[in-house]
Amino acid sequence: MPELPEVETVRAGLSRFLPRKQVQDVWHDWPKGFPNALADVQQFVVGAHITEVRRRAKVLLIDLDSAYTLVIHLKMTGQLVYQAEHERFGAGHPSDSLVGKLPDKSTRVIFTFADSSRLFFNDQRKFGWVRLMPTTEVENLDFFRKVGPEPLAADFTPRQFAERLMRRRGSGIKAVLLDQTVIAGVGNIYADESLWGAKIHPLTLVQDIPPRKLTALYTSLRAVLELSIQKGGSTDRNYVNAEGKRGSYLTFANVFRRQGQPCSRCGTTIIKIRAAGRGTHLCPHCQKQ
Ligand SMILES: [Zn+2]
Repeated sequence: MPELPEVETVRAGLSRFLPRKQVQDVWHDWPKGFPNALADVQQFVVGAHITEVRRRAKVLLIDLDSAYTLVIHLKMTGQLVYQAEHERFGAGHPSDSLVGKLPDKSTRVIFTFADSSRLFFNDQRKFGWVRLMPTTEVENLDFFRKVGPEPLAADFTPRQFAERLMRRRGSGIKAVLLDQTVIAGVGNIYADESLWGAKIHPLTLVQDIPPRKLTALYTSLRAVLELSIQKGGSTDRNYVNAEGKRGSYLTFANVFRRQGQPCSRCGTTIIKIRAAGRGTHLCPHCQKQ
């Protein structure tokens, strides 16, 4: 699954190309993944202009000037490929379709714009989806009502962060960081890296973490997410950035998949344990339980 930095990288890439494009045609052969009635797609997408590409948690939102929004989730093997006469980029699952001739057998949806450029949604395994809905209704979706605040939002404060975590004070910190209803978009890599940065053992109960360490965790989490976005995402196995290049964040990781190697801060050997049901990497010296 992509994590927040990967989807943010996709959003940033598409934002360079899609705004102001007018949709001329929509083709799809994917009633399960794109279940809207054809008549609605004709009425609210065809002829409309794209106004903005947004992201909430790991979901992409393409707003149209018809007051409708395309809500897109890439899931495991989804990818978006924008193609114009002289420019192209692919974003998402790094199959050959990112660079090959399109459409191909993984193509589920094609948006054709008035200037003849096109946006392809390809998905080999068909877990991804597209939904068309009124823009004002997006935030009422069950998912959006439940998902926690964006950790990188300008108005997200250390105090809010601590308050969100305290909702699950009796749970281990790693499990709470991974809980999308507490904070949006934090996955396994960024949980491990931010806990190492703040010198917190992943199994520590939230209620046992002193306030100054929660503030350190807030700072550390934002820093690793920002660095990853800057590096084009982590590309943990499947994801490449909006220009089809592999992201390089994992090169900068301090603990993730570095078990057996020395901690860059103290030289102690990094270990791997299980926490929150996930493989978890930590320095046993810097992150004492
Ligand atoms: Zn260490």
